[in-house]
Amino acid sequence: MSAVCLPRTCRLLRQVPRGLPAAMRRHFSLDVAAPLLRTQGFVNGRWVSAASVFPVLDPATGQEIARVADFGPAEAKQAVDAAHEAFQSWKHVTAKERSVVLRKWFDLLMLHRDDLASIITFECGKPIRESLGEISYSASFLEWFSEEARRIYGDIVPPPARDRKILLLKQPIGVASIITPWNFPSAMITRKVGAALAAGCTVVVKPAEDTPLSALALAELAAQAGVPAGVFNVVPCSRDQTPSVGRVLCTDPLVAKISFTGSTNTGKVLLKMAADTVKKASMELGGHAPFIVFDSADVDRAVGGAMASKFRNSGQTCVCSNRFLVQSGIYERFLEKLGRAMDSELRVGHGSEPHTTQGPLINAGAAEKVVQQISDAVSRGAKVLKGGKRLDGSFMEPTLLADVTADMLCTKEETFGPLVPVIRFDTEEEAVAVANASSVGLAGYFYSQDVGQIWRVVEALEVGIVGVNEGLLSTPEATFGGVKQSGLGREGSKYGIDEYLEVKYMCFGGLDP
Ligand code: NAD
Repeated sequence: MSAVCLPRTCRLLRQVPRGLPAAMRRHFSLDVAAPLLRTQGFVNGRWVSAASVFPVLDPATGQEIARVADFGPAEAKQAVDAAHEAFQSWKHVTAKERSVVLRKWFDLLMLHRDDLASIITFECGKPIRESLGEISYSASFLEWFSEEARRIYGDIVPPPARDRKILLLKQPIGVASIITPWNFPSAMITRKVGAALAAGCTVVVKPAEDTPLSALALAELAAQAGVPAGVFNVVPCSRDQTPSVGRVLCTDPLVAKISFTGSTNTGKVLLKMAADTVKKASMELGGHAPFIVFDSADVDRAVGGAMASKFRNSGQTCVCSNRFLVQSGIYERFLEKLGRAMDSELRVGHGSEPHTTQGPLINAGAAEKVVQQISDAVSRGAKVLKGGKRLDGSFMEPTLLADVTADMLCTKEETFGPLVPVIRFDTEEEAVAVANASSVGLAGYFYSQDVGQIWRVVEALEVGIVGVNEGLLSTPEATFGGVKQSGLGREGSKYGIDEYLEVKYMCFGGLDP
């Protein structure tokens, strides 16, 4: 039997957020979110148990908050079959009707924003303000794609001969397997599913093992919004079951498309599995974002951008700045101002505390990775200006390192934690070369007030997303996706829906000239 462990959660709430006003504590708690807490899988419009359960932990305390049905390959196959059957009718539902359902789902997310945010905070550790922001962001994809659903236009093309007409028709691709990470437990699902459902596809979602509750809450609201049975299925599973469930989702012949967000290594495993049946694939993979501050930059603005792009979700986003490159003329001033901003703006604590800006990392291993990067950098000559230590459990001190060089671990691999390694550079060419010396290219940021330089650097950076004098970029209106080993395809924007469509060429011949 799967179960939500509310009594333990209540004890936990009393222990952790000391100083939190009682009304606030009651407001952002799992108790209050209980109507949306589901612990069974969701297949063909029904809640389904499994032979066993797996625990979901609060990363801030390590305590169990729920036990969720541990699906295996058999349940995953049932979900694929259900999605395939539902596709036969969903693809014929008019674009306007699909749009109305998505819009209703959006409205429900906004109505239950506080409860959904509480679930995120307790299962992934994110500070409550950011969790509220994630729900708005998550809902915005349902809103955006409810609008895009009605704009899936084909083309009528001038033919090369007078006796024929050429039409390019867009059709939904079929069943899509959606595999998502823990760091945006809600938004990474809607960014894909909004586009898929708008296009007329049906989906099977496998959420990350750390954060299945947000996905299941989305399923509850999908049902309330009138998403038909089988169109949106959720197959939660433990890390142990993940490879066998993943195999079904990536190899079953009834699945036409896989869309994955997660690490580059896992993406490669899934792509190899999907190759046998030649499935269409979208991959949103790891990043290693450079953040460049040129001498001409407005330093205060650059510091604001650095704070926003580095410390969101305690540094655990794929677009977080990972390598800071600062030009010699501005280097000392930038370090001094950034250090002051870190002191005054960052508060480490449980995510449900209203003043917390830095929650825990997802688990102890994640904190250990940051510690290793810091000690490697220090052993090679970097200087710790702030922080540097691991705190209780998986909490990390926000850390600022100076005198970092390109041979250090933290400049070679994604950190996924609250570490700012700062490299000094002299010329634009040098900065661009260091920024591009990576096998991945998702986001990049730079600060400059020199217009010529801005255009040169935008064009030279090998990334899919570039922020010029701006540290927060994600929005449903724009594309999201990377180059090199950061992935394949784009999400959001008017292009996101194309990932779920096929273009069929119709040649209508035999017409009288
Ligand atoms: P991960 O690759 O370990 O896991 C992501 C998902 O893949 C989880 O659901 C996991 O259960 C699943 N998975 C792992 N092995 C699998 C297998 N064999 N078959 C099927 N599913 C499998 O990544 P993570 O640690 O959860 O997330 C962090 C990574 O995600 C970082 O590298 C980050 O940059 C990246 N990320 C990228 C984006 C983006 O849009 N580009 C967004 C968020 C996170």
